Amino acid sequence: MTANSRCSVAEPPGLETQRREIECLLRESELQAGDSWYVVDRRWFEQWKEFVESGDQNSSSFPGQIDNTELFEDLDSYHLKERLVENEDFMLVPAAAWHKLLQWYGMVDGQPALERKVVDLPSTLKVEVYPVEIFLCLHSNMENVTSAQFSRTDSIYVIQTAMCQTFSVPPGSECRLWMKSSDSSCERLRNVQVSVLDACLSSGMTVIMETRNADGTWPSSRPQIMRNSAEEQDSYRGQPGVCGLTNLGNTCFMNSALQCLSNTPPLTEYFLQSSYLDELNFTNPLGMKGEIAEAYADIIKQMWSGRHYSVVPRVFKTKVGHFASQFLGYQQHDSQELLSFLLDGLHEDLNRVKNKEYIELRDADGRPDQEVAEEAWRNHRRRNDSVIVDTFHGLFKSTLVCPECHKVSVTFDPFCYLSVPLPVSKERVMEVFFVSLDPHAKPVQHRVVVPKAGRVSDLCAALSDMTGVPPTQMVVADVFNHRFYKIYNPEESLSCILDRDDIFVYELSQQDEDSVLLALYLRERSHYRDYGSSSNSYGTTLFGHPLLLNVPRGSCSQEALYSLFLQRLARYVRPPDPAEELEEEEEEEEEDEEEELYKTQTNGISDDEQNASETAGPSEPEPCCSNASPNGPTDGPTPDPDPDPASSGPVATAGDPPPGVNQGLASLDQGDTEVGNGSLNPAAGNPDGLSAGGDLGADGEADGNAEPPAEAAQPPRETTEEENEADKQEEARSPSPPANECPAKRRACRKRRRSLFTIQAVNSNGTTERGMGEGGSAVSFSSQPYVAIDWDPDMKKRFYNENEAERYVKHGSMEVPQQQTTVQLQQCIELFTTVETLEEENPWYCPVCKKHQLATKKLDLWSLPEVLIIHLKRFSYTKFTREKLDTIVDFPLRDLDFSDFLLRKGVSPEEPPSRYDLIAVSNHYGGLRDGHYTSYAQNKDNGQWYYFDDSKVTYASQDQIVTNAAYVLFYHRQDKIRKPTLPAPSLSSASQPANDTTETGTAPSCGSMDTD
Ligand SMILES: [Zn+2]
Repeated sequence: MTANSRCSVAEPPGLETQRREIECLLRESELQAGDSWYVVDRRWFEQWKEFVESGDQNSSSFPGQIDNTELFEDLDSYHLKERLVENEDFMLVPAAAWHKLLQWYGMVDGQPALERKVVDLPSTLKVEVYPVEIFLCLHSNMENVTSAQFSRTDSIYVIQTAMCQTFSVPPGSECRLWMKSSDSSCERLRNVQVSVLDACLSSGMTVIMETRNADGTWPSSRPQIMRNSAEEQDSYRGQPGVCGLTNLGNTCFMNSALQCLSNTPPLTEYFLQSSYLDELNFTNPLGMKGEIAEAYADIIKQMWSGRHYSVVPRVFKTKVGHFASQFLGYQQHDSQELLSFLLDGLHEDLNRVKNKEYIELRDADGRPDQEVAEEAWRNHRRRNDSVIVDTFHGLFKSTLVCPECHKVSVTFDPFCYLSVPLPVSKERVMEVFFVSLDPHAKPVQHRVVVPKAGRVSDLCAALSDMTGVPPTQMVVADVFNHRFYKIYNPEESLSCILDRDDIFVYELSQQDEDSVLLALYLRERSHYRDYGSSSNSYGTTLFGHPLLLNVPRGSCSQEALYSLFLQRLARYVRPPDPAEELEEEEEEEEEDEEEELYKTQTNGISDDEQNASETAGPSEPEPCCSNASPNGPTDGPTPDPDPDPASSGPVATAGDPPPGVNQGLASLDQGDTEVGNGSLNPAAGNPDGLSAGGDLGADGEADGNAEPPAEAAQPPRETTEEENEADKQEEARSPSPPANECPAKRRACRKRRRSLFTIQAVNSNGTTERGMGEGGSAVSFSSQPYVAIDWDPDMKKRFYNENEAERYVKHGSMEVPQQQTTVQLQQCIELFTTVETLEEENPWYCPVCKKHQLATKKLDLWSLPEVLIIHLKRFSYTKFTREKLDTIVDFPLRDLDFSDFLLRKGVSPEEPPSRYDLIAVSNHYGGLRDGHYTSYAQNKDNGQWYYFDDSKVTYASQDQIVTNAAYVLFYHRQDKIRKPTLPAPSLSSASQPANDTTETGTAPSCGSMDTD
């Protein structure tokens, strides 16, 4: 933070005013095309909310400058990370709110404001968080590629103009544009008036511009350039249906769903035979004027022509986007949602019923199921009659029972697919880092199993079982950007912690009322120094891992903290050896800039610290500087486990408080003064303290297995000696001189040493500045004290071992493969038919009680369709948790028998059997927000299974199909299955590409799990 950035920050109004103003703007701002909104990191925003809600200007939740660091891929290009999610990763705030926040808090240096425009897309207004990023080049020089961002509402002409400028095309040149997608097919952009959206230009595609030659020809019409992919593939004659689908940028969800449908024989035959032409319904208000059906037919015909290795589903995608804006392609979507939309759209586009009559539904009224079911199905067919109904619709019975009057309501409803729940585990696996008290132990990564509905204390208990450290001596914190995003209390729910959070659990020394939990940050000073009036006289950057430690209240002096920290960081901070110190000493004597700084600071108290102590109220700011030191330097939060009392440093805090502790308590209340007083040279003040710290460190190394019981047992034995020691020191110092006397004394002894770092009181964000204004006081220890140790870059380079600091080890629990639970598909279907009680949010209106009731509800399957789609509900969203279930569902490839699940018994001879064979699976790999879709499907002509991964198609064997990625299953009823008309291809290798060799080399944008 530099003086510059501070200048732009205006005095913010009171917290309540801030809260009201911003809330009001958020509530009242509506999306209007062309308006600007701003992207703000959600964590920063939440922290700001917490801050203003705390009503305390000095609250530790002060958010600091607006910081969007986490949203960027890197801090050079400031490209947004992919697939950030609104309200999860970022918030959108209207311009007016943004400008206020910016004025009050400023912004981290160098970061660009993330301004985004509201765009008017078909049937929706959206803030375009991700504009389309397109590569641009000239046909005459395809090596020189630049990239530029365009809005989806920009016309192609905007791109053309931008290109003319970028490439300095002479004005008046006649140009034409081509777009090239990842599969290297080229398509002419004929109409420059259409929008980027309508042209299906998406991120990652290239626009090539050519200018007409002097002889009137176009460069691209010369041979061998820019052949259209269709021409290229003209000669290909492969197995019909074995055809990839090009990824147009995050469209694998669509490709996966399309491949499943394409391999649904009755539907595909219907389209290949062009039966749809007679049934297109252009007038159905619920339909898409036949456009979806036609676009779908085009795709299917191309895929089954045998002429293409891969088809570009661009037109189809545009149509889908037009009719269902949720699929416009900002981020990854759900293949099942698309499937549901598509089946519905195809049904309405192909509905043979042109005028839907109104049919009054009759209550069951105790009539037999058979009668009510047939009536319901008849009624459904009177309004809905299409190839989709013929193929995919079944009927289930739902029974609701009122808990009060026991009214039973029975209805029969059609369904297009079954969404079956997965048994939800009540447990959760968490990965956390455990930071031992032993300063020489590396953090250990553990995998623990906790109750999903548990509290933070359950996490500690689980970790305690592995480490032997009592849960009461643990603190759990979310570490984010080298600082504590949140320090949890044991009662908080584990649902606050997301799997992607970096959770650190710190072991603490035994607590007593006399100790305080101190959060420690590491900061590096920038070379730039500003000796202005502010205490924050240099720019700082956080680095490394923050720490939490228990510090005896009496040990909060600069000196005590210095040696305590030195000891705590011993694993990666090397204490200077005497030779080096000598060097320092000499350096010091030259009265360089460094020296000046110390003088200023040791003579006490920069202006605003003085301020702070003045406004801190009725306390004694001065004396406390000394009173803490007696036991300070020697006792740590780490009571030394060394059983030899002689070698160990005194263990403080247990037993009777030595004199001065009461004062120490007082000092803590305005400990800011003490710590802030700061940058006196602590090591210089107390060489004994330093060596004691060193001893401690060495001991810790010698016996790394600090046993808490031993440690607990120890203090009584030590107390006397320690008190004596403390008393002695106390005597030696008192009457305690002001803070600046010690250095002077040491200088006289020529023992002056330069400290490795200085200590600053900071806020939870690790910045020294606090919100001024209402409260007045600049720093305080009111709730959670935070301090930073500030390093000069050269000192850091010499004494801080970055590699060592980053090291950690994996606990054995990390090696154990996470247990995969397996359930049978039949169990999921049983769950689907299990009686459940309606939730509060979704009650049932009882016609007898005349009010909403939490009725019990039971679903039963009545009749099943020819092709049964089963959706495995892997994505679980509750009020508190969002997760993807990785359970393996074991589903049969053949002979899935539903007879036990069907309510209708006593099947007559003409009734179809209820046995099904698998024909296709849509897979989802990855987590909640990202991931990749593929599919397995069986070709209807040759009976062979294939694996479809966007444009790539490979042979698949049946034993590959059941995985925990399976998401939507397609089953075909056995009586309808036709025998393959062709022999299965003879396979030399199951993994060999089945559609082409040229396609496998390309890397579609959706090709790997982590990019899509
Ligand atoms: Zn009732």
